[in-house]
Formats: sequence, C-alpha cells, structure tokens
Amino acid sequence: ENDETYVPNVSFKDRVDHTDEFKTDYHFSSTMEEVLHQTFGLQSFRPQQREIINATLNNHDCFVLMPTGGGKSLCYQLPAVLSEGVSIIISPLRALIGDQVDKMNELDIAAAHLCQDVGQDETAIIMNKLHCREPLIKLLYLTPEKIMASRTVSDVLKYLYQRGKLARFVIDEAHCLSQWGHDFRPDYKQLTFLKSEFKNVPIMCLTATATKEVENDVISILKLKNVKRFIMSFNRPNIKYQVRPKKGKLALEEIIGLIKNKFIKKSGIIYCLARNDCESIADALNAAGIPSRPYHAGLSDKIRNAIQREWMQDRFFVIVATIAFGMGIDKPDVRFVIHNSVPKSVEAFYQESGRAGRDGDVSYSYLFYNYSDVLRLQKLMKLERKSSAKVLEGHFNNLHQMVSFSENVVDCRRYLQLIHLGENFDRQVCIRNKATTCDNCENINAYKMIEVTKEAKELGCLVRDASIKGNVTMIFVADIYKGSKLKKILQLGYDRHKYYGAGSSLNKTDIHRILKDLVLKNILRDHVTQAGEFPVVYIEPGKKFGLLATPNLKITIAINKTSLKSLTVTNNSNNSNLQSDEEGKTDSPGPSKLPITTATTSKKSTY
Ligand code: ADP
Ligand code: MG
Ligand code: ZN
Repeated sequence: ENDETYVPNVSFKDRVDHTDEFKTDYHFSSTMEEVLHQTFGLQSFRPQQREIINATLNNHDCFVLMPTGGGKSLCYQLPAVLSEGVSIIISPLRALIGDQVDKMNELDIAAAHLCQDVGQDETAIIMNKLHCREPLIKLLYLTPEKIMASRTVSDVLKYLYQRGKLARFVIDEAHCLSQWGHDFRPDYKQLTFLKSEFKNVPIMCLTATATKEVENDVISILKLKNVKRFIMSFNRPNIKYQVRPKKGKLALEEIIGLIKNKFIKKSGIIYCLARNDCESIADALNAAGIPSRPYHAGLSDKIRNAIQREWMQDRFFVIVATIAFGMGIDKPDVRFVIHNSVPKSVEAFYQESGRAGRDGDVSYSYLFYNYSDVLRLQKLMKLERKSSAKVLEGHFNNLHQMVSFSENVVDCRRYLQLIHLGENFDRQVCIRNKATTCDNCENINAYKMIEVTKEAKELGCLVRDASIKGNVTMIFVADIYKGSKLKKILQLGYDRHKYYGAGSSLNKTDIHRILKDLVLKNILRDHVTQAGEFPVVYIEPGKKFGLLATPNLKITIAINKTSLKSLTVTNNSNNSNLQSDEEGKTDSPGPSKLPITTATTSKKSTY
C-alpha cells in the first residue's frame, strides 16, 4: 500500500476571491519561476506562496495567516528580488533578523539590517548603498523601534519613497500590532503612520497566530485598503499525531525503542516537565547509544547556545528539553517531537509538536500521557508565586482541555487541535492522508460512544457522601462503586451505601474515566495534597455539581469495543459471568490505562 503519500491540505478557512492570484501569465510569472529555482534553489512553491507573491507584485495590500513553517518568508523575499527598489521588512526580534540577513547573503541576495548593534561605519555603508540611483540593497530589515526612533532611517525611507524606490513594507509577526494578540508590542502600533506617510506603497502582513479579532485589528491599525487575505489552514498534514499511555514518570523504554526503530540519526526534540527529567532521559539515551543533550533553564546561556548550535549542525540529534526550548528555532528536518509528559495547553501542544516537519516531509508527534503528570503540572502552576487566582484558574482550564484532548480516543487529533485555533476541520482529510493519519482516525472503528449518565449520577452521589466524611481519592470511590471488600471500606460502613457495588460489572479503567469526565465538566473537582513524598489527589463535588440533578444531563464516554460488554451489562446485572477484565479483582490502582494501544484494528503498530 502507498504509505508515504499525503494529500497537502490547502483548504482556506475563509474563502475569498483570489481568482486573479492563481494566474501564471503575468509579465513577471516566468522570472518568478526562474528566481525560485536559480536564486532560492527550490523546486516548487508551497501552497499559497505563488498566490501571495502575485498579489503583492500586483501592489495589493496582503494579510497572510499561515502556520509556522508554512514558508512565509519566501512570500516577501522572492518579490523583493523581483521588484524595483527596496523592500522594508519589519520584524520584532533582532536575533531572527540577523539569521535572515545571513541566509539572504548566502543566496547572494543583497540584504542588510539596521538594528542597534550595527556600528557607525557599517551604517554608513548601508546608507550609501540605499542612496545609489538603483539602490544596492533589496531587503532592508528593521525593528519597529528603529523606524520610530531613528532620524536617519526615516530620512532614508522618505528619500527612497520620493524616487519611487520603496517597493513595499512587510510586517512579520503582525499579531504584535494587536492588543488582542498574545505578544502585543506597543512600538508596533506606531506603524499606523506608514499608510499616511507612504501612500500607495503596498503593505504585507504575516503572522502564524491570529484570531478574527486580531486580523481585523491589524488591518484597521495599518489602514490597509482592499486587502487580499490569505488565510491558510493550520493543519499540519505531514505530521502524524499519536497519544500513548505512560506507566511511570519517564517513557524511557518506549522512547528508546521508537528512536532505535525509526529515527536513527534523525533530528528530534523530547519535551519534559522538569529539569531532572531532561537529565535522566538524556543520560539514558546516551547510554543506549543515542547521542543527546539536555536543554533547560538551569543551564547557562552560553551552554544553551552551544547545544542549540551543535544540534542545528547535526553534531548530535536528540535534544531533551523543557519548554524553555524552541522560540525562534528553525530546524527544517526535525523528524519527531516526543512529549514525555503532558503539555500545559492544547495551544502549547500544537506549537511544540509543530516544530516537527517544517520541511514538509512526513514527521511524527508522540505524546506520552498519564494523569499523575497532570497533577505534577498543576502543582507547579500553583507554585508560580506571581499567579493570581484568576490566572491560575485560566491555567487549570487550559490544562483540563489538554487532559480532555489526551484522554479522547475517538475524535480526530487534528480536528481537536484545530477547533482550538478557531478552525473547523474535515476529518476525512486526516483519514485520507494515509502516511500521517492520526491514531484516533486509524482506530476509528475500535471505539464506540456509550451513555453513562446513570453511572455518572451514582458516582457523583458516592463522591458527595464520601467526601462529607473526609478526603477521598478517585481510587477509593471506584473501589466502593465496584463493591470492594477492602478493610477501610467495610470499617467506614460503605458497604451499606446505596451504590456500594452498583458498578461491580464495570472495569476500573472505565470508572476512572467517568470520574475524570465529571472533573472536566466541573461537576466534580480534584485537588492535590502532598502526602509525604507523593502527591495525593482527592475528589469532591465541584462548582457544577448541581448539573447532576438536571433531567437533560447526558454523559457519554468512548469505550473500546473489546470492553464494551462490561458496560452494556449494567442494565442487566445478573449476568455476572460477563464481568470483565484483568483488573476486576485487584485492589491496587494500577497505572491509568487508556485503551489506546489496545485498539482492535488490524493496523500494525508503529513501534
Ligand atoms: P514561516 O516563517 O512561515 O514559519 P519559513 O519562511 O521560515 O516559515 O520557512 C520554513 C522552512 O520552509 C524554511 O526552511 C524554508 O526554507 C522552507 N521553504 C519555504 N518555502 C519553500 C518551498 N517552496 N520549497 C521548499 N522549502 C521551502
Ligand atoms: Mg517566519
Ligand atoms: Zn485524524
């Protein structure tokens, strides 16, 4: 079967009329192809690049929303080469500007920047080049501060403009303009003067993060006219997403197995929750013959820069990092991103896993999930002293959504991420992309949604009644519901409770999932306490406990068809020989076992 092909997804979020932009017979069209091959050394355009370049070369204002790694830079670099005069690129990060200019110069494209660190002599040389009759610079990179504060810069811009040598303004990371964006920079807002001062000079805005509000905000601040909007799907069609249950703190065996089987001498990032985890995993990988380095905030800038550089140069392949790693990293051939523990939000997961496969080749995202990591993370969030109660609630909420994502075994992983980014997504696109179909789409026939409203109500009552007597854990409640003969349960008289044993035919995993679902819905609440060395999670009625009593409440969970029998017999509890599964008799909690890898499809596992 044809496993290595995938259908590039070029769906628009918001289809606008771009018929003109699809043309290939403009007077510049053939030069455009030539420059793509000869100057940039690239074979073909990525989705949307040709259309965007056409639009800007036809002097339209453009708004480009394209995911990270989509290839936004080419959309202004190539037109800059083709256009008469100078393109002004405004970018917020000095570090990135330096890299970009180096890259351009390597390709023999005349580029320069005027950031703070450029000396007087160098500045004079650049100014001379800009003052030539045909300016000797094609791309001039600036920070917004520089445009606003430097007299020299504003003078040279005016000079270029008067002679018709100002090709366009490009505003990279344009979401920084908007207060609604996550990275608002006041200096960006000043750019509103560009349209009034330099009439008719086209502006191109580029970003990878924008909601509709940010988009409109950016367009109105810059006073763009008849904007061509290019809104691309945030789907990353070349990344295969998989979530796997994890037993201990580190998924060591699985990670080593994966790398040895699939990623020998391939670049990858492993994300961890804590510095110690980074160190342990890197040590274990090195011991297993996989060269790797830890990367976290506990290392000096100097060491971190060295690690980053060596990794970029393929001197070693696997970087084991806390989330401190990744901002502004552009390594195109990252073949896998592994999350050794759950990220703090769905957005974070999207960004971090999205560092894989920027070159467009098939790449892999693995998330190793267990619930105790969620609790660890919650504790860390609480320890962040500066967080107000409100902020903390926001963090917890984001984390809960990530839990929900991780525990979901039925919905498409792409769909689940994209609805978070405000984009609707057709699952069929994932199913069709054979090489990168997500785990849940691969197992689409293995699960069924089952209504568990009755069970949820019974469990809710148990939690309420038990938590009156003292702190109770999920495991304890599940034990009562199953009718366990544990001494503690009998001593406290729980064997006389209405729902003692009412869930005897369910397996413990399913009971836990119902309880967790109630937590996600705020019907129940969990809270963590340190008991000696270990965190213990207690469970109690939550803010929306009242929902349990409402008549139209409906709780459903996804159940693996192989364990389906256990739930369907709840309406017929005589049928005790159907009582299922390996966990039935044990009283110890056992690791959280999501039935993800036990799916019944015949599809080979990718281990
Ligand atoms: P963005 O700014 O959207 O995050 P970049 O412009 O940095 O993305 O491009 C990401 C990577 O894709 C870079 O390594 C770039 O060289 C590569 N790239 C861009 N366009 C193409 C193309 N048409 N063909 C092949 N590679 C491309
Ligand atoms: Mg970019
Ligand atoms: Zn899918």
